[in-house]
Amino acid sequence: MNKFIIAGNWKLNGNNILISNFIKKLKMFFKTHSIINTIIFIPPIVYINNIKDIIQEKNFFLGAQNVDLNLSGAFTGEISVNMIKDIGVKYVIIGHSERRILHYENNKCIAQKFKILKSKKIIPILCLGENLKEKNFNKSELICRKQIDEIITIVGKNAFQNSIIAYEPIWAIGTGQAADLKYVIKMHKFIKTYISENSNINIHDVIVQYGGSVNENNIEQFFNTNDINGVLLGNSALIYEKFTKIIKITN
Ligand code: PGA
Repeated sequence: MNKFIIAGNWKLNGNNILISNFIKKLKMFFKTHSIINTIIFIPPIVYINNIKDIIQEKNFFLGAQNVDLNLSGAFTGEISVNMIKDIGVKYVIIGHSERRILHYENNKCIAQKFKILKSKKIIPILCLGENLKEKNFNKSELICRKQIDEIITIVGKNAFQNSIIAYEPIWAIGTGQAADLKYVIKMHKFIKTYISENSNINIHDVIVQYGGSVNENNIEQFFNTNDINGVLLGNSALIYEKFTKIIKITN
């Protein structure tokens, strides 16, 4: 069975002192707890250096929140996959709803990012999911299907091998109210089935995390089902006590 994958996305939060202190405590935590799951820490990219001395931990990896489509050149403000690889990043979030909505990234652009990550052997964490209106019109599966289709079209039928999907219903993100477990399982089953039927991957190898208001009080239900292979945390990743409690419960 795949290991449970806990990814903590700090988004546009934190500062030098805050992140250094968090990492210091986390380092101690790893010394006193034997961790079997995969932990991915995803700070704002400028603080990557603060994390350097704990990336040697066996199940702890660095992630980035974004990457550019291009490898180098006149693209002011962007960061390339070569650069993030250079500094030890193993995973990159793409397709997060905040980037889709606030930065106008469409399925095509996200698929191109997916492709460039795969070409450099960085593991994409592809976020997908519907908004509330789409859910209410019973379009959740259709939306996820379109998001997946573009990846298969641009990246090819092996796209989802050694990749991670994070199913994140937009209406559950940052609300404090996670989606209902039955609903999440139904969507995860759909995503896994659809991907395995439309590309070159066995259904059991499709890795799907859930994201959207996961916290230390509701994590257990998401952990106790084979259909959910991990969680993508936002707010709960910012507070050391919450983050480590989630790690402990799922270990
Ligand atoms: P949240 O964020 O845990 O704060 O809901 C999740 C996410 O945006 O991935």
